Amino acid sequence: MIAAGSAPPGQVAILHASVERGEALARMLRPAGHQVTVVRPGPGALSTLLAASPDLVLGTLYFGDQPLKETMALARGALDPELPLVIVLGREDADAVVAAHEVVREPVDAGELGLRVGSLVARQAERRALQKKIDQLAGLNRTSWVFSLAGGAEALFGQIARYSAEALRAEKGLVLLYDPERREMEAQVPGFGLTREQIARVRYPVDGEPRDRWNFRMNGPLVSNQAASDPHLLPEVVGALGLRSVMVVPLALGPQITGLLLVGDRPGPAPFRDEDLGMLQGVAAQAAVAIENHRLHDEIKEANIRLHEYDRMKSEFVAIIAHDFRSPLMAIRGFAELVLEDADLPLDSRQEFMQTIMDQTDDLARLANDTLLISRLETGQLEYNWQDTELAPLVLEAVPLGLARHSLVTDVPAGLPAIVADADRLKQVVTNLLNNAVKYSPEGGAITVRVRERGDQHLVIEIADQGLGIPADQVGRLFQKFERVRTDDHLRVSGTGLGLYICRRIVEGHGGRIWVESEPGRGSTFSILLPVDARAATTPSRSDNTGAARSASKA
Ligand code: ADP
Repeated sequence: MIAAGSAPPGQVAILHASVERGEALARMLRPAGHQVTVVRPGPGALSTLLAASPDLVLGTLYFGDQPLKETMALARGALDPELPLVIVLGREDADAVVAAHEVVREPVDAGELGLRVGSLVARQAERRALQKKIDQLAGLNRTSWVFSLAGGAEALFGQIARYSAEALRAEKGLVLLYDPERREMEAQVPGFGLTREQIARVRYPVDGEPRDRWNFRMNGPLVSNQAASDPHLLPEVVGALGLRSVMVVPLALGPQITGLLLVGDRPGPAPFRDEDLGMLQGVAAQAAVAIENHRLHDEIKEANIRLHEYDRMKSEFVAIIAHDFRSPLMAIRGFAELVLEDADLPLDSRQEFMQTIMDQTDDLARLANDTLLISRLETGQLEYNWQDTELAPLVLEAVPLGLARHSLVTDVPAGLPAIVADADRLKQVVTNLLNNAVKYSPEGGAITVRVRERGDQHLVIEIADQGLGIPADQVGRLFQKFERVRTDDHLRVSGTGLGLYICRRIVEGHGGRIWVESEPGRGSTFSILLPVDARAATTPSRSDNTGAARSASKA
């Protein structure tokens, strides 16, 4: 007798007209662990054979009246075109030539039969495993193709959900994404086999969850065939989605968990098996890349739109600046021409014209400086020079010369703490606001500079005047580039609308805020809120970078 060896057992169907002989053959195979079904010819024989879903068929040349070949053709068509066949030849068939994987002759030696069946079953198992791998790879290939064709984000989530469910023969599929800002996991519409209302209910914080819940980074994927009673799962999620069985795998980009891929409810008593995870993980890997590609694509699209907007703003800026440069230049040229061409010009007129030329030149220089400063502020080239700064002397130095028609009140309490700021830039802001207070208070009046502590981390500088004031509907835009109050009284004063924009950018560069309160005809108060330490307030904290990945893992 030949030993059957340690080949893995399988499902064997024996097609035999004689029950006794069929059972005798079955008894030879069962000790090796094979599940053997003996099928007799007659009505229902084929469906019994198919239900057995054998790894190998063993039979005699004739199965009742029908040649074995025909029965095999039907079985192979329904089950597997490569289904192996072992033919047992009785003495009377001894010379028949048959296309089978093995031929065993009567009287059958149990050991020899066991060996041949064992090796064929093992080969069939290997072949099936290989076929499964090929199917998986082909499936993954198709996945990337399908996902890369997706349109908007919703279309992509819908495709991933549908594809995962179909690939895993599940009734439900769903993508969940991690939102690092809210530190929440959120289900994405549309899913597959789920309503929008169900999906809308699935959103949960990833922090502070009980320890016995599944932790996807530490524990990896999860398979559960009793979802309702599984302590690893969040009951409200299981309830919202009505899950009986579920498989969840993380969506990951390198070490970072970006979300979860879930399939649920495959029919059957113990539907999801660990070996199904490989397939879902393969889909998840493709899905994570597709979602990331989609996000990057959106980001590029937005950046492109912003770039066009910058381009438009730059052209507009250049056009306005060119215009603002041309007006004083024309004035300078005009007055210079008058002085040059008229030798008899009275001295006081000559002096007046020369003064205008000087004023216009100053305006031009200011405009050139503002333009350069704005370009440095907007391109991030302006480096602040942080230093300990005393506000009392800074305010005094910022007061412009020649306040003939105005009175100035400075109200800066003694003993104010020094703050960390860029003293020169801050002085520029205060000078600018004081200049405006003078320019837009044509009747004179008091101008007050007040400094106060606000809590122990901030200071407020206020510059108040009793001038034209600002109509309420125009207050909002004044801190934008080129914005000026559009009343005759305001426009009579020469200006470019760049000063307040520069003030805002510098104050924000200090981690502060600037605003104005005003009553038309009665005056305006500009306020600047500054942190006591601008350097600390504007240095981004480093600890935020790792937070997302850490908390995502707790989903
Ligand atoms: P500019 O004074 O060069 O026009 P700003 O950017 O400094 O530019 O100011 C923008 C506009 O805000 C001014 O044109 C003016 O209409 C209005 N404005 C600024 N300061 C005052 C103020 N103290 N009172 C009334 N209006 C003001």
